[in-house]
Amino acid sequence: MHKPITPPGQGQEQRVQGDPAFSSETLRHLRDIAGVSVWRWQPADNQVFHTGSGSSIGQGVPIQQALKQIHPEDRSRVKRKLVAAARTGGSGRFEFRSNPTGGSVHTLSATFFPGEGEGEDKPIQIIVHDITVARRAELALRESEEHYRNAVALNPEIPWLANAEGKLIEVGPRWNQIAGPAEGREYGQHWRERLHPEDAPYVHAQWAHSIATGEPLDVEYRLLTIKNEYIWMRARAAPGRDDTGRIVRWYGTLADINTHRQALAALRDSEEFARSILESSTTAIEVLDAEGRLIFINGPGKALMEIDDFARIAHRPFDSFWPQQVQPAIRNAIASAQQGHTVRQTLFGPTAKGSPRWWDISISPIRSADGRIERLLALSSDVSDAKRIELEIIHLARHDALTGLANRMHFYEQIDAALARLKPLQSMAVFSIDLDDFKLVNDTMGHPAGDQLLRDVATRLAVCAGGTGFVGRLGGDEFALLFEVYKPEDSVLVAQAILATLARPFIIEGETVNIGASVGIAIAPRNGTNPEILMQSADVALYRVKAEHGRGFRFFEPAMDLALKGRREMKRDLSRALERKELFVVYQPQIDIASNRLNGFEALLRWQHPARGAVSPADFIPLAEESGLIDEIGAFVLQEACAEAMHWPDAIRLAVNLSPAQFRSRAVNRTVAEALNKTGMPATRLELEITESVLLDESTEAIAALKALHASGIRVALDDFGTGYSSLSYLRRFPFDKIKIDRSFVSDLPGSEESAAIVRSIIGLGRSLKTRVTAEGVETWDQLLMLSAEGCDEAQGYLFSQPLPAAQARALAATRSLSARPAEPQEIAAAKRSGTDS
Ligand code: C2E
Ligand code: CA
Ligand code: CA
Repeated sequence: MHKPITPPGQGQEQRVQGDPAFSSETLRHLRDIAGVSVWRWQPADNQVFHTGSGSSIGQGVPIQQALKQIHPEDRSRVKRKLVAAARTGGSGRFEFRSNPTGGSVHTLSATFFPGEGEGEDKPIQIIVHDITVARRAELALRESEEHYRNAVALNPEIPWLANAEGKLIEVGPRWNQIAGPAEGREYGQHWRERLHPEDAPYVHAQWAHSIATGEPLDVEYRLLTIKNEYIWMRARAAPGRDDTGRIVRWYGTLADINTHRQALAALRDSEEFARSILESSTTAIEVLDAEGRLIFINGPGKALMEIDDFARIAHRPFDSFWPQQVQPAIRNAIASAQQGHTVRQTLFGPTAKGSPRWWDISISPIRSADGRIERLLALSSDVSDAKRIELEIIHLARHDALTGLANRMHFYEQIDAALARLKPLQSMAVFSIDLDDFKLVNDTMGHPAGDQLLRDVATRLAVCAGGTGFVGRLGGDEFALLFEVYKPEDSVLVAQAILATLARPFIIEGETVNIGASVGIAIAPRNGTNPEILMQSADVALYRVKAEHGRGFRFFEPAMDLALKGRREMKRDLSRALERKELFVVYQPQIDIASNRLNGFEALLRWQHPARGAVSPADFIPLAEESGLIDEIGAFVLQEACAEAMHWPDAIRLAVNLSPAQFRSRAVNRTVAEALNKTGMPATRLELEITESVLLDESTEAIAALKALHASGIRVALDDFGTGYSSLSYLRRFPFDKIKIDRSFVSDLPGSEESAAIVRSIIGLGRSLKTRVTAEGVETWDQLLMLSAEGCDEAQGYLFSQPLPAAQARALAATRSLSARPAEPQEIAAAKRSGTDS
């Protein structure tokens, strides 16, 4: 409730008496509730009364005093009005503001009219009405109207109104800005004129359809602007109906969607572009929606997957295209992609027409501009050929070609697997089997007879093993058998069965051949829990049988274990070898086959043991790994070899072997960096040779370490390829600069079909991966010719040179080419006999 102006000279009480029209009570109500008060000015005596009625008179105050109640800015105006009213005797209305003494300013409306009386005596009656609230509301209204007008003016959407027949009645003011003024014409006419002729028929048809059916309108068309260019507009309208449901109006909007259309067009262009890239790619590119349903596949992909009718398979879950056993892997990859990760794997799956294929497939997320995962991208490629080679290599690498039995590596894998399966209180027996008189047969009857005998032995042992045992051929006439037994004693029966079956005569080339066998037995877990120790223990037991004239079996006993004792002594000696300067490095040349030029040297470690003489690194490196000395020794080799390599011409590379154990201890990166720093050797001249086992345990740390080394310019070679797991996945896990074919395959060339196949496959693999291939252990011209014919890049072996002492290597490096004369066969034989190569 607003407080009206308080009559001058008065408090809350009104000194108003008598009122024929309104009681003073009523007046107070008027004042308090409606904010109305009644005043009277008598110009004659210049007194102002606050009155209840035209006649009653209270105590007056001079007008100057009364005016003090009025806002100073409004005072003179109010006074002028009143004076003018008094002079003319007219009536009227004005507004004024109260004096802000109490803090708030009120807006008041005064209605004045002449009272009764003559001339100077004629008073002026004034009814004052507090209109503060009303004014405020009005102002707010005006502001909101203003806002509305602005909103309409600024809104990119132009409102329009049409009658039920579709005649345009009104269009928002922005129409003029876009299309120019209608200049007297009807809006409908104006609009029709500016419609693009190509769009007009469609738009008119749509509009007519809406008018006829009452369906909302939504059309896009080009409109000629005032600048004489066409822009895209979108018109939408909905009908307004009366109570009976009859359409009385169409309420429409018109929006400028030109930029939007242009963006769309640009997008389509870029889509077109992307699509052309997709189609020219040779890999299969599939796009899945965020839920993993196939929504796009490029042309090459359709060809690769032999898909004739994409529409038929579109929108089906991607995993449903794969064989059941592969589906979980696909689903996992999709789930990972949905989490933002990329998963890559090699999986088997037939094409749409059922052709068997191996795929290298990666599934990764595609994000929209706002970062949401909108689509999934499935790539790549038919790796069946590479996979076939891999499987071939894996098979060849795991099996003995002569007998078809597992080779040593595969046999060890089986021991590992059996150990993992072993239940508590259960035992497992490993039998090491040696034929007693095999050499005799081989020498007297010839190799083919020897081979036949070995095959027959294999067959009999396989029968012996039955469905539960596992047989392997570990080398020459060494066989082994693995058997799970409840009690160690049970293995006696197996050993007896082996001896009995091999004691029966063999018929070889029509002749009866009698051989015997010796068997050594090791029991897991009692004698060891890893293949090497178990096999070694079984061998120790076997030697004991042989020493006791053979044809029997023995269990391993710890007392037999002189070999193990020897290892312990060697470990102790090795720990002193460095400080005693018993370790040194020799260098074996690596030769480019095509040009016969020296590419570099491989550093090979040597140990000159004071009592045992030259000890092979093959024997002491494993000891160094077990005892943890490998880091120190590895650092020594790197230092020594890098320092030496600085005496060679810049073009000559240095290859250094790294043990997997050096990666496990994590010191390797620092060790390498230190060696390079101290010697000043450029990283690009250094090549590190590692074996697959570095990558074996999926060690991301080892891969990270390798990648860091690689990034610094160091080259990385994969050593001994073909002997290990020989899995393609290792080759893919790291971009090797070189693959080295293990010398065991090379040494079998050119006689062995199997080795030839492996060597050929590895060279093929290198070619397809664009990785150089080096053959180790090349000893003969025949081997070199064959490797050369297969396209092998590089060779290393006694045919060219044994590993050389530093001084000789330095002299050879200076000439930069190898003496044209490779080693003579006698030299090779001598080198082999000596066991060391320096
Ligand atoms: P590797 O890396 O495969 O080295 C090649 C081996 O083949 C060397 O044996 C070399 O002397 C021998 N060799 C070279 N050409 C021929 C040939 O024409 N015929 C024959 N029969 N053999 C040939 P080495 O020096 O006894 O080394 C054996 C293994 O010891 C090496 O195999 C390597 O794995 C390891 N090794 C050697 N030096 C080091 C080292 O400094 N650090 C580490 N971690 N391992 C080393
Ligand atoms: Ca090597
Ligand atoms: Ca090797």
